[in-house]
Amino acid sequence: MTKKRTRIAPSPTGIAHIGTAWQAIFNLGIARQSGGQFLIRIEDTDRSRFVPEAESLIYEGLKWLGIDYDEGGIKGGPFAPYHQSDRLDIYHKYAQQLLESGWAYYCFATKQELEQMRKDQVARGELPRYDGRWRDADPAEVQKRLDEGQPHVIRLKVPHGRTISWEDQIRGHVEFQSDLIDDQVLIKGDGFPTYHLAVVIDDHLMEISDVLRGEEWISSTPKHLLLYEAFGWEPPRFAHMPLIRNRDKSKISKRKNDVSILSYRDKGYLPEAVINFIALLGWSHPEGKEIFDLDEFIKVVSLDRVQKTGPIFDTDKLDWYNGYYLRKMVEEKGLPELGKRLVAGGFVAPDFPLEKMEQILPLIYERIVKLSDFAELTDFFWKDIVPEARLLLKKGDLELVQGQLQITKGFLETIPWELAKIEDTIRTLCETKSYKKSQYFMMLRVAVTGKTATPPLFETMQVIGKDQVLARLEHAIKILKEADAT
Ligand code: GLU
Repeated sequence: MTKKRTRIAPSPTGIAHIGTAWQAIFNLGIARQSGGQFLIRIEDTDRSRFVPEAESLIYEGLKWLGIDYDEGGIKGGPFAPYHQSDRLDIYHKYAQQLLESGWAYYCFATKQELEQMRKDQVARGELPRYDGRWRDADPAEVQKRLDEGQPHVIRLKVPHGRTISWEDQIRGHVEFQSDLIDDQVLIKGDGFPTYHLAVVIDDHLMEISDVLRGEEWISSTPKHLLLYEAFGWEPPRFAHMPLIRNRDKSKISKRKNDVSILSYRDKGYLPEAVINFIALLGWSHPEGKEIFDLDEFIKVVSLDRVQKTGPIFDTDKLDWYNGYYLRKMVEEKGLPELGKRLVAGGFVAPDFPLEKMEQILPLIYERIVKLSDFAELTDFFWKDIVPEARLLLKKGDLELVQGQLQITKGFLETIPWELAKIEDTIRTLCETKSYKKSQYFMMLRVAVTGKTATPPLFETMQVIGKDQVLARLEHAIKILKEADAT
């Protein structure tokens, strides 16, 4: 197999997007399988959308997910620089070449002029587009304006009457009519290249063999193919990945979805769960496997298994994966590993009693879906709790519940704080006093934890500790007295 070179080319415009990670693993897999390289190029030529910290967030997100790369990014490499803003001279040189070969021209149309053009076209019921007014301008006039230093852009001279087509590795045969393509701006008024010019030059110079990118770029590809033709370069193979969608088929977006890689880290998802989840977005394992890691994905990924329709971004599935990988981690490495991850990830409050971790984890770990659930599942083990009178009285009346609390407290005061003793005391009480089990246990659970759903009651009471449990029972009695008085 000939070695393939692939890339992702993120624009540093905000968060590190989960879609970038998704495309990264496919690009990485395709390159690595062939013994080639996968690189990161930073497309930072759109200065109006540039966000300084965005680039480091991309590296942080990919690193957290364990997505490695061979060149570019912060590593550099033989085709440096990998930031488009450091390559402006290169783009100008090639734009000059296009001007000389007649594939590009200067355009001096002002913003106002273009706006007017658009309005007139809309008024005439036409599709708004650049009308080509500088396409065949008098060279003397152009030179005069250049000499005067008039603001201008450089546009691609899109040939008329052509059909531009390619065999897309995911979508099959795709074709566009050149008459529907605007004379694309290549160099903007600020001297920066547009994405279209820069991406073609860089993919060529960086020897990218396969361009695998999102479907939103599909209508740009004919422009790129024209540029390859204009330069006399062999174009790469193209593949356009489908757009990731919501259940209602809308595109996932910053507004509607959580699309930031790092927010998944911060919510306590495990990187291996996120990787497994995104690997199966729009792609299926050749053996139908649902569980596999990045190394395996890299070995078996192929574009012929990528679907054309947009995969659904189903975070319930991600939750399922996270639960799965958490349990797997505990099975393989034990609960202390989970404890370590919780502490390292900052999911444990600063005043959490770490000495109780060993006792608490066995009681709750099966209910953790993501690491951030830990706080909510464990706060009553150590934080002050205030039970609600309404919950204490859920299935019993005031008199009964007050009596139950008093008696239980009295008995618990006298016993050594051992699990068997706690259980025996409470069960015996329940039986001899003929309490209704479900009511009595619920009432105790609420009094001791403030919640109606907790891990097993006796174990929980034991971990909370005798003094605390007695204090909480006392507190519950007080709350009921106050409720009675009002
Ligand atoms: N800079 C583009 C982006 O932000 C890259 C598109 C491409 O891969 O060609 O998605």
